[in-house]
Amino acid sequence: MTSTASCRKCGTPLPEPSIGRPRTFCGVGCRRAAEREVRRLDNSIAELEGRQLSHQESAAFGNGTPAHHEAKIAHLQFAITAAEARMSALLDGGDDDA
Ligand SMILES: [Zn+2]
Repeated sequence: MTSTASCRKCGTPLPEPSIGRPRTFCGVGCRRAAEREVRRLDNSIAELEGRQLSHQESAAFGNGTPAHHEAKIAHLQFAITAAEARMSALLDGGDDDA
C-alpha cells in the first residue's frame, strides 16, 4: 500500500500499520476533538438551514427585496456546503478505533 494516511483532525502523518486498517486519527485526543467538532458542525448546519428557511419564507411572503433573500440564501448555502464538506472529511470511514 502506498497511500500515506494523515490525522483527519490535525493532519499529522500517520505511519501505516503493519496489520489492520489504516488509522484515521493520531490519537484519542484528536478523535475526541473531531467528535466535538462534528457536533458543532451539526449544530451550525441546523442553525444555518433554519436561517435559510426563514429567508425562503420571507421571500415567499414578499417581505423585503428578493435580491436580498437570494444573496443571503446563497451565502448560507456556501457556509452549509463548507460545513458539510468538513464534517464528511472528519467522518469519512472514521468508524475505526484510534
Ligand atoms: Zn491528530
